[in-house]
Amino acid sequence: MSGDDINADRMLEAMANNNQPSTINQLNGCTSKEELDLIMHIRRTILHLDEDTTNDRSSPKKDTISTTTATSLSTATLDFKIERAKQKFAAGSLEEAFYECWKIPQEQRTLEIWKIGGECCKKLRVFAVAQRWFSEAIHVCRSNNTDLNVKLEQARIARFFNTYLTQYPMIDIRVDERGKGIYAKRVISPGEDIFTDIPLVHAQTVDTLSISPACAICTTSLLTPAVYFETTWSRIPEKLQRQIEEYWPHITPISCPYCPFELYCSEACRQQAWDNYHKILCPSFNPETTELYQFCANGQIIVRETWNSIFSPMILAKLIAMIILNVVNSVQNGTTQNSIDLNYSHKLQQTDDGPLEQAKEIFSEFISSGDATYIRTIPRMLKIMKNIFNHSSMPIHYEINEQEFTYRFYQIACNAQSFSSPTYATTIYTRFLSNIRQRDRTGLYQLLQTYLKGEPIDQVFGGLFPLQSSLNHSCDNSCEIMDCQVTPEVAGIKVRCKHQLKPGDELTINYVDLALGRRARRAMLKRAYNFWCECQRCTFEGDDAYSCTECKTLSPIIDNPNPNLTNGNIPYRKPFPACSRCRNAWYCSPTCQKQAWKQGHKLICRDWTKERSSSSAN
Ligand SMILES: [Zn+2]
Ligand SMILES: [Zn+2]
Ligand SMILES: [Zn+2]
Ligand SMILES: [Zn+2]
Ligand SMILES: [Zn+2]
Repeated sequence: MSGDDINADRMLEAMANNNQPSTINQLNGCTSKEELDLIMHIRRTILHLDEDTTNDRSSPKKDTISTTTATSLSTATLDFKIERAKQKFAAGSLEEAFYECWKIPQEQRTLEIWKIGGECCKKLRVFAVAQRWFSEAIHVCRSNNTDLNVKLEQARIARFFNTYLTQYPMIDIRVDERGKGIYAKRVISPGEDIFTDIPLVHAQTVDTLSISPACAICTTSLLTPAVYFETTWSRIPEKLQRQIEEYWPHITPISCPYCPFELYCSEACRQQAWDNYHKILCPSFNPETTELYQFCANGQIIVRETWNSIFSPMILAKLIAMIILNVVNSVQNGTTQNSIDLNYSHKLQQTDDGPLEQAKEIFSEFISSGDATYIRTIPRMLKIMKNIFNHSSMPIHYEINEQEFTYRFYQIACNAQSFSSPTYATTIYTRFLSNIRQRDRTGLYQLLQTYLKGEPIDQVFGGLFPLQSSLNHSCDNSCEIMDCQVTPEVAGIKVRCKHQLKPGDELTINYVDLALGRRARRAMLKRAYNFWCECQRCTFEGDDAYSCTECKTLSPIIDNPNPNLTNGNIPYRKPFPACSRCRNAWYCSPTCQKQAWKQGHKLICRDWTKERSSSSAN
């Protein structure tokens, strides 16, 4: 515990006892603002102690229990105070209980007091303070205490997601030893929209980038006739071209004034991209990014070999650019709002860890887990990223080494969710056709028949969604993800209930094709997300017909049914009969089947080949 902390506490203690004029300024920097606000609030509204009479030392409201200075309490007094705090807490008087805890001098607070104080703050939804008190509890505890670690993690998560949880009172984010998950707090019915989410960072998938361009910010389709008709465009007679343009919905893509690589639907989107990431990724200022932009523009074939994800490596570059610009903005403290000097004439000195760590925290909730050796198979991507962020135009140094690259790569691979612009390319095309049909008097539609290529593909984006990424996988998912125009300007996703949820049920989505058998699903999940699925469905399904799903007995060995085929040394077995409905479980006997049905097979037994797969993260 630092001397400053003790002084801060003494100062507050003195203030609490009306011995000093209390001005907020005086206390700034002493303790967290949240803690101070909470104490002020408790004194004013719960204890009716008026801060305005702080100079009046004879105030009858003066708290008689506290000592006037933060000298150590005697053992008896301390025990008495601890007992009072416990009683208030047990009685549900959270504010008063916290006040009792807080009045005990910091250096005398026991593990129990830190814990009670933390619990009070958590229940009062003052998560920043709860976080501090739980971390002090861990500090006092000295041994590795799982329970306290979980409590601290819960407070941290609650603080991080506070806005969401206030906005969506029907859900809760809980943490246990397995990690975090989202749970229902009330009954949620099938078809009900549970929450919407917008990406912190996103980029268009490389396979849709060149054939169906969209605004890099708001994802609005920017499909023009020239792009739609591709090579055919130049062969269309000029008069017909003019007519097509006349009936095509009006689209004017705006490009970055300094490079040809980014397109936007409006000046506002262009500015936002510039401020958020493009000013340090624009190839005209950082030539090293040219290779990345070209890499993406050239499409999927190169990408499949070197970046094993349908998601663009641009997400990673943008993510780091955003962190860097966040640091720059926080250091400059708004003085040069949104405009770094492009000549970087006054390059910022190496920033201390503070602002960089803070900027990184925005992305800290996205878990990262995967095979580090895979990274060595995509050396070109690591090299491109190193070159970009080591370039002299960077306002601060951000170290991209193999470890950092691996961490960020798997953050994207494990969490990126695909979504599409609600102003689909197909919508533009449909509007074009209906414009022609409604107004055409010159037989244009007939003329066009030879040139039309049918519906264009929709542009797909991959993004990191803070709340959605807290949803865990289940092979019998309770929720599904849908595209959604979250605000008129911002596209994102919404999470919709698929199966009825009771309070306490976990909200889950699926990451794989539900029609696959258990062995294939588990293998895919292990490969792509590095976990072994133990969901309810995986629990009550089997891998194959050669062992009983319930009692695990192997099926009887038989002679080779086809002597022309060999099976190495593996014996041939007679398959057990499959469950006639789902065909994903096999039993040695009707007894085993009945037993399994009762145990839980009935909850997941249905024809999964007919189940509509909700959009998945892959
Ligand atoms: Zn836009
Ligand atoms: Zn540019
Ligand atoms: Zn499963
Ligand atoms: Zn059996
Ligand atoms: Zn079944």
